[in-house]
Amino acid sequence: MFSDLVPDLKAQLPALRGRLMANQSLAELTWFRVGGPAQILFMPEDQQDLAYFLSRAPRDLPVTVIGLGSNVIIRDGGVAGVVVRLGRGFSDVSIESGQRIRVGAAVPDVRVARAAQEAGIAGLAFMRGIPGAVGGALRMNGGAYGGEIKDVLVEARGVDRGGNIRTYANADMHYTYRHCGVVEDVIFTEAVLQGRAGDPAVIAAEMDKITESREATQPVKTRTGGSTFKNPPGQKAWQLIDAAGCRGLRIGGAQVSELHCNFLINLGDASAADIETLGETVRQRVKEHSGVALEWEIKRIGTA
Ligand SMILES: Cc1cc2nc3c(=O)[nH]c(=O)nc-3n(C[C@H](O)[C@H](O)[C@H](O)COP(=O)(O)OP(=O)(O)OC[C@H]3O[C@@H](n4cnc5c(N)ncnc54)[C@H](O)[C@@H]3O)c2cc1C
Repeated sequence: MFSDLVPDLKAQLPALRGRLMANQSLAELTWFRVGGPAQILFMPEDQQDLAYFLSRAPRDLPVTVIGLGSNVIIRDGGVAGVVVRLGRGFSDVSIESGQRIRVGAAVPDVRVARAAQEAGIAGLAFMRGIPGAVGGALRMNGGAYGGEIKDVLVEARGVDRGGNIRTYANADMHYTYRHCGVVEDVIFTEAVLQGRAGDPAVIAAEMDKITESREATQPVKTRTGGSTFKNPPGQKAWQLIDAAGCRGLRIGGAQVSELHCNFLINLGDASAADIETLGETVRQRVKEHSGVALEWEIKRIGTA
């Protein structure tokens, strides 16, 4: 348990409209279902409310943002400071002219893909394969089935730690594979994505194929964080993990998936430490076996 900072913060932020909750459990906000509490969980009402909070909150108060928690391990000791989670006020989807779609950062990627399909906008079906929300996709340069955010982003909007609302053109995001170069403390609030004209029935068929392929090759119905490690240039992380003999490896309640060995799964009673230790064990065995140092794709947040 952390000390309760909420009364002090409320006193400093009289015009705040969003919810502040002390010692709020985060496990159920993540796919792995593990980890300790947030010292404060903040759910801003809208972008203005978020900007107000960031401009007035003490500068030494750590701020972390999470989306749908599909790419994070929250460590067992929880997260000191404020964890921001965007909700209703960041959930708009609007179709714009020229096959563009404007989406709030809390919109699930699956919903973006569906809205684009219904509007006859092709090129965004790949988002059907990513179980996060737009904010996480912007930060991770999420990609699947031959597409990634870098290919479709026109611009993103975000709020920096000083509470300034900023717009980032595609080039300002400094995208590389599963990485965004914008300073870590920017919280994305909205994106404009560019597609191209397409036939809704053809796009729907493409999305169905993605759904089928994912269900056949990934443990999508388990407690997981998706791909644990980035693919090293020219290599597949899962092949290196398999070759190092790690498929099915267990530590405590955590296991390397038998179906897709770049996925770690919580068998039910894993701690965050079990999952992270398993990941580090895999890294070490792969290093010994093939000499390759795997890099975590999953973000590990908080204290052990
Ligand atoms: C079964 C499964 C399959 C997956 N398959 C894929 C795949 O095919 N391709 C792929 O790319 N990923 C995949 N992932 C990983 C994950 O879905 C993506 O990384 C996704 O983009 C994360 O979005 P999220 O909303 O869940 O973010 P979180 O997991 O909550 O956060 C991820 C990172 O983004 C940051 N973040 C979240 N929201 C914001 C915001 N508003 N502003 C700034 N930073 C933010 C967080 O601080 C954190 O660093 C998979 C995951 C699972 C569980």
